Amino acid sequence: MPIIRDIRVIATAPAGANLTVVRVETDEPQLYGLGCATFTQRHLAVQTAVLAYLRPLLLGRPADRVEELWQLMMNNGYWRNGPVLNNAIAGVDIALWDIKAKQAGMPLYQLLGGQCRAGAAIYRHADGRDLTEIEDNVRQFLAQGVHYVRIQHGGYGGVESAGRSRCPDGALPGRYYDPRAYTRRALAALEHVRTTLGEELELLHDVHERLAPAAAVEFARDCQALRLFFLEDPLAPEDLAWLDNIRRVCTTPLAMGELFNHPREWTPLITGRQIDFMRMHLTQMGGLTPARKVAALGELHGVRTAWHGPGDVSPVGHALNVHLDVAAPNFGIQEFSGFSDALQNVFPGCPELRGGYLYPNDRPGLGVDIDETLAAKFPCRDPVVEWTQARLPDGSLHRP
Ligand code: MG
Repeated sequence: MPIIRDIRVIATAPAGANLTVVRVETDEPQLYGLGCATFTQRHLAVQTAVLAYLRPLLLGRPADRVEELWQLMMNNGYWRNGPVLNNAIAGVDIALWDIKAKQAGMPLYQLLGGQCRAGAAIYRHADGRDLTEIEDNVRQFLAQGVHYVRIQHGGYGGVESAGRSRCPDGALPGRYYDPRAYTRRALAALEHVRTTLGEELELLHDVHERLAPAAAVEFARDCQALRLFFLEDPLAPEDLAWLDNIRRVCTTPLAMGELFNHPREWTPLITGRQIDFMRMHLTQMGGLTPARKVAALGELHGVRTAWHGPGDVSPVGHALNVHLDVAAPNFGIQEFSGFSDALQNVFPGCPELRGGYLYPNDRPGLGVDIDETLAAKFPCRDPVVEWTQARLPDGSLHRP
């Protein structure tokens, strides 16, 4: 029975985004695990939660009691289910699963029941300033063998639209956008790609909770004719009561969850069949221990998985996504935006991208390691976050 001997945090930013990796060491030589705890915009808070609170709680405890330790970490501080603590817990939890699979001498997906599929189908992001640029970017992905593409037109909310042109005197700086111009341009882009590239390609779009609820209902209805694979985050978590309105007016498949961090957010949406795809960020929800249960809950209710997979997930976190993807019968799709050379050098054993699929490797555990000497050459930085300061045409702040 391995005993937890030390817990360390490794901070690195090989591709620009601050990544947080937790390393759990045991008293058995060479037996350690890695977990992702990346909350890129608040990474120092997560690091403190791991080192100041979880480390002293866990040192000397058996590493193989993953469920028990998850419950202990979640409840020990009394207040629970916040993004900082959930990411900190996830870092340890994922590392403990990595250790358990290494002990078994198996890739992690074997502990989850084995493979239902050889690789996980991915979707890529195609954006552009105009329709030609968007189409060109989609064609590049198609040439690489990608079958699912998310279409955006000028970033979230179409930030290049005319939101700044009619703001009042004295309006503050920010990322201005115009919701009406955004939906018009997004529909034009989706229509253009559907018309020029045909019906075989699967199209997605991310609203990124930029619309007022009534506008989101209208937009989801207008997307129906374009036969999307899914429409992502049409509503903010605060506006979930409007989901019924969308369900009543259209059949556009809905994907939600990347901002969720409490079971009260995802459970009713799954059991009520109000969404088609669950998109939680595995570290934001607390790691593999809760994620595998929620994936199974989705299977029982006909809801598929589409775990969040942006650039601010470490390759350790991406590897976890892929292990769950290949093992879950109700896998839907995996978001992915590629690994840079620097990332692949810092994290040997990254999941492999071939054509439109990501593949886990067959090493024991997650199959990913970290070169700490190299990681130290890419220090994290903490400028004030600008992109989240979204503003409406009247100058008021809106969710990013
Ligand atoms: Mg998203």
